Amino acid sequence: MILNTNGGINLGNVKPKKKLAIVTCMDARLVNFLSEKLGVKRGDAKVIKNAGNIITDDVIRSLVVAIYCLGVEKVMVVGHTDCGMKSIDVEEIKKKMIERGANPYFTPNLKCWLGKIDDEEKNVIEGVNIIKNHPAIPKDITVEGYLIDVETGELKKLC
Ligand SMILES: [Zn+2]
Repeated sequence: MILNTNGGINLGNVKPKKKLAIVTCMDARLVNFLSEKLGVKRGDAKVIKNAGNIITDDVIRSLVVAIYCLGVEKVMVVGHTDCGMKSIDVEEIKKKMIERGANPYFTPNLKCWLGKIDDEEKNVIEGVNIIKNHPAIPKDITVEGYLIDVETGELKKLC
């Protein structure tokens, strides 16, 4: 939605100008930093974020909408160094869930559901492969993987 100067609401063009979708981590250190680094401005790209930029069914769902409805032609998976999803302690989370009255057994495999990662680079490469090989994703889409260094801002292309 775009607010007109006259205060009205313009539902106008919601298609991303750069025909780009970015899948990245929810890490607070990436807010603004990543878009600046990629030269992506408001209206340029669809940005899909979750903990650890893991390609879940819901990410695929958003990409399907971005590709088939919004003209996205390129997908960038951008991971980052020092990702918190590498160091999460599933047992500790389970303990905290129980302490606060949540049921950690709501899913058959909490560890898998939480999506702990072993390596930031491998996680990005695996994500790119999942998107490229997914039956819902057309073959004419460009999918690339990157890793951003949260300290130096260096953006490295992985695949
Ligand atoms: Zn992260």
